[in-house]
Amino acid sequence: MSGGLLGIEDLSREEIEAILERARDFQRVQHQTVKKFDLLRGRMVVNLFFESSTRTRTSFEIAAKRLGADAVSITASGSSVSKGESLVDTLNTLAAMRPDAIVMRHAASGAPHFLARYLDTPIINAGDGTHEHPTQALLDARTILDHRATLENLRVAIIGDIAHSRVARSNMYLLSKFGARVVLCGPPALLPMEMAQLAPGIEMTFNMRDAIAGADVIMMLRVQLERQHETPFPPNEYFQFYGLRLEHISLAKPDVLVMHPGPINRGRELSSDVADSRQSVILNQVENGVAVRMAVLEKVLNKS
Ligand code: ASP
Repeated sequence: MSGGLLGIEDLSREEIEAILERARDFQRVQHQTVKKFDLLRGRMVVNLFFESSTRTRTSFEIAAKRLGADAVSITASGSSVSKGESLVDTLNTLAAMRPDAIVMRHAASGAPHFLARYLDTPIINAGDGTHEHPTQALLDARTILDHRATLENLRVAIIGDIAHSRVARSNMYLLSKFGARVVLCGPPALLPMEMAQLAPGIEMTFNMRDAIAGADVIMMLRVQLERQHETPFPPNEYFQFYGLRLEHISLAKPDVLVMHPGPINRGRELSSDVADSRQSVILNQVENGVAVRMAVLEKVLNKS
């Protein structure tokens, strides 16, 4: 392995705790006028995104710059990939410019793991197909721990398109390592039963009310139409059965946290009044994305 960060599955509890603890230091700095450090001065991070991104790409770039590193972002449509270059050739080309890390998002599950076998440059997985999105799970954990003392025994309902969600997988790995009780919920076509085997202590239900009953955290997921060959539910019907509305919130714990990795689709996965409610920590997740990615970049670049 290249010494980067490919997934939560490979991380120990101690490694995760160290990242979350370090992210706390960086969270505090975000409220200061001067937010920049010299910790990674002279280092270079390349962001290579083969899929759309707003939050992840921007926050990796901001995180690198706040640590004093230089950052370059490349999207597939503006690169030689659109001229037919292979993935390995593109990565070798970028690695020849001697960056200290490559942050990569790709539609194929396992793409960063495959490349990490060939490159000396550390690779940080910013989302690979339906497989993992490790920094999302880390920033989600940071956000939950800003409101709760521990993840242990928390009931976390993850609701929506579980089948295509790398966010769900990374969160399942992380939450179960810390003893949280994860309940997966979605329509049968989007909730493969074998997902329960991915981590210990996973419950499953097709019924949204059952999933939410007594929940400490409700994590809503986007319907990943780009990974589906057909739309299993017309949007209105999906919202009727699996959209989070204010009436659901009272089924959960009174201090429930409503989360969503974004981009949110109001009126499809959740109603506007829930997205903007006091229970919603969706923008806190975005804010924590910068602090957590600073902690990840620092760890990876200091190793390399
Ligand atoms: N932004 C997240 C991801 O890249 C979630 C989503 O796109 O729905 O997986």
